[in-house]
Amino acid sequence: PDVVNKIAAGEIIVAPMHALKELIENAVDAGSTSIEVLIKEGGLKLLQITDNGHGIDRDDLPILCERFTTSKLKEFEDLTSIGTYGFRGEALASISHIAHLTVTTKTAGSSCAWRAHYGDGKLIPAKPGQNAAPKATAGRGGTQITVEDLFYNVPTRRRAFRSASEEYAKILDVVGRYAVHCSGVAFSCRKHGDSGVSISTPVSANTVDRIRQIHGSAVANELVEFKTEDTKFGFRASGLATNANYHVKKTVILLFINHRAVESTAVKRAVEQTYSAFLPKGGHPFVYLDLEIEPNRVDVNVHPTKREVNFLNEDEIIELVCTEIRSKLAEVDS
Ligand code: ADP
Ligand code: MG
Repeated sequence: PDVVNKIAAGEIIVAPMHALKELIENAVDAGSTSIEVLIKEGGLKLLQITDNGHGIDRDDLPILCERFTTSKLKEFEDLTSIGTYGFRGEALASISHIAHLTVTTKTAGSSCAWRAHYGDGKLIPAKPGQNAAPKATAGRGGTQITVEDLFYNVPTRRRAFRSASEEYAKILDVVGRYAVHCSGVAFSCRKHGDSGVSISTPVSANTVDRIRQIHGSAVANELVEFKTEDTKFGFRASGLATNANYHVKKTVILLFINHRAVESTAVKRAVEQTYSAFLPKGGHPFVYLDLEIEPNRVDVNVHPTKREVNFLNEDEIIELVCTEIRSKLAEVDS
């Protein structure tokens, strides 16, 4: 069973960025207004995320890394949406099977913070021979998750990583996406040993300013806003897209569906098609698209590594969004 768990975990967490995405979503779900990420060796040596969210009760720590331990089922009451959000309560469990995991957390009601170490889904002692029970410690309100030596027990996977800087670039991409999307959350990302931060967004910035922080003024100064919705297809879309007088070298689509960063080839293709009428050859758009779809219509977050999302009336919804973007582009163009 341990081998099975390890294999399952390795399919859920394929690269450091997948672990980080899950940990960021947990921190956001915990109501954090500050999320700090610290990385060593592309996340393979160390991946640490510190939030100021509601924390975890001491009593919940012993089972925290058991599979299907989740405090979020109330959001997924009916069975159909439990089915669509199949991936629940598996992130921390998976990470504990393929890395050394330490959780330090403090709730508002607790007079101290608690620290717990995990291996293979269970509490383990900090040092062999010691007691595995969580230990009282000093700490601020919120949670710090420390993931060390990712894939230490999956040598083939570990060897597949050639360059720490490549993994770090993917990590910055993930942090950057959530930093653009999550208004009300200040993000930072830092490489261990570097004096400066790679990403830093203040909590108060508006979406355009957050895009400016991460993607630069050139892009941020050329954005048009768009918004559309349709009750029949059960969706609401809003976002920012570069105008017809500006382009980037490679298409950038920051797509969020129900507040999860996802990818969709269908969306990308349709957006590129929409812009092709406006941009010179070789010119590409930058689009931030925030899509909210009734949960029972979307199959998203089934798996952190799952790139593609599917939702009902995909073609119709994409067409409506692109029509809206097209009308904004035509305004600026004329
Ligand atoms: P899920 O997010 O699907 O519930 P996870 O394995 O990602 O499953 O997390 C398990 C549980 O641990 C969550 O439901 C939540 O109660 C708790 N948790 C994890 N990370 C945090 C955090 N940063 N702050 C507060 N609670 C957390
Ligand atoms: Mg989670």
